[in-house]
Amino acid sequence: MMARTKKFRLTIIQPCIGRHADHRRYIRAWQMESLAAATLAGLTPPDVETRFYDDRMGPIPFDEPTDLVALTVETYTARRAYQLASEYRRRGVPVVMGGFHATLVPEEVAQYAESVVVGEADDIWKRVLDDARHGRPEKIYRQATRPTMAGLRPDRRIFAGKRYLPIRLIEHSRGCEFNCEFCAVQTMFKQTQIRRPVDEIIAEIERIKRHPKMLFFVDDNIAADLGETKEFLRALIPLNVRWVSQTSIHATQDEELLDLMHRSGCQAVLIGFESLNPANLRQMNKNVNVTGVDFATALDTLCRHRIAVYGTFVFGYDHDTPESFRDVVDFAVDQGLYIAAFAHVMPFPGTPLYARLHAEGRLLHEAWWLDDGYRYNRVPFRPTCMTPDQVRWLCQDARRRFYRWPSILRRSRNRANRADFFMLRTFFLVNAMHRADVTNRDGFPLGDESWSGPLIKAG
Ligand code: SF4
Repeated sequence: MMARTKKFRLTIIQPCIGRHADHRRYIRAWQMESLAAATLAGLTPPDVETRFYDDRMGPIPFDEPTDLVALTVETYTARRAYQLASEYRRRGVPVVMGGFHATLVPEEVAQYAESVVVGEADDIWKRVLDDARHGRPEKIYRQATRPTMAGLRPDRRIFAGKRYLPIRLIEHSRGCEFNCEFCAVQTMFKQTQIRRPVDEIIAEIERIKRHPKMLFFVDDNIAADLGETKEFLRALIPLNVRWVSQTSIHATQDEELLDLMHRSGCQAVLIGFESLNPANLRQMNKNVNVTGVDFATALDTLCRHRIAVYGTFVFGYDHDTPESFRDVVDFAVDQGLYIAAFAHVMPFPGTPLYARLHAEGRLLHEAWWLDDGYRYNRVPFRPTCMTPDQVRWLCQDARRRFYRWPSILRRSRNRANRADFFMLRTFFLVNAMHRADVTNRDGFPLGDESWSGPLIKAG
């Protein structure tokens, strides 16, 4: 009788940001499907036995036998990822790490992983698995050029049984051609964007659209290539879906594009306004926001096309003062934004902002993401016109004011926010969720507070 070959066992884990020692509930707004995990599962050959655990949704069965653990690491989840890797290292299981943080600081990540994937995994993942299966893993796998994205087929079966937010993530393009100083996207993708073949995205939507969920095109800028985006949106119209995405403000200057967005089911877009002060925008290199684009006109145009707006703003740049917060919140309420984010700018490693603040001696922690004393929403650098705590409290106050009930009721009157019953009902649900989170995220630990012992480094 022939001996059956044992299947190679891969465990994919989505790390959480952290956990309070008292195990209070995780932040609900952070519980979206992990598209990175589904993409990795889709790239994995069928002769590999694949399991997926989501650290944000439940406990990890560390003692379940496995041959390799794969972790996608972002800067906010790095500390937790290193804790998870330490657990597996204690059990003799090798760990491979990839994702943004692995590309931004591969030397750091290599201390806690047997192998590191630098750049996108699409074209090298099969080699990583093959090397691990044959016991000859390399320390660094580097994707030198950008992949084509053709043939991508995320495997969403791994999400079965998990109660994620009712929004389905899907890729249309990846990367951004702008170079905002604070943004890790431009470092990761070297200011380039790649796009999937339109017929493949449409086929993927056909496969998943029977699930009554909103689609979220996770593009960094869905309208970077106007011609291609219009072709895609024309193909999307007959599918009769609802979708949201992210775009730069220049998209609002193309009426044909906005018409196609509306007709193809666009409900809302995230726009990074970042600041109302042109001097700040110039300092952060957000030039797309200072090239003759008037924010109020852009928002009126979107409203006319029944497209609601999620506006994001950052604080702590050199021209910000306490008055800047009041001006921004007044603007966001007056303009009837669907939701908005008010956060201090974060110096992510590998970004020009991190390098500048480091050179100016303004970082309070070199590696804030690993520092015992650092907690979510603390400002890890010295702003020029305010103290770090002042910026932190003023951000919290901005959120509190924006998510007050009178503001919510006032913003609900915006025509785009009440485009139909679905949008209006979702408006109140999403605003109530953000209202509950105004202070919840402050002080959230990076890493599991109840995890003890030193992080175990890879040999
Ligand atoms: S436009 Fe957005 S994604 Fe592009 S570099 Fe700027 S912040 Fe990053």
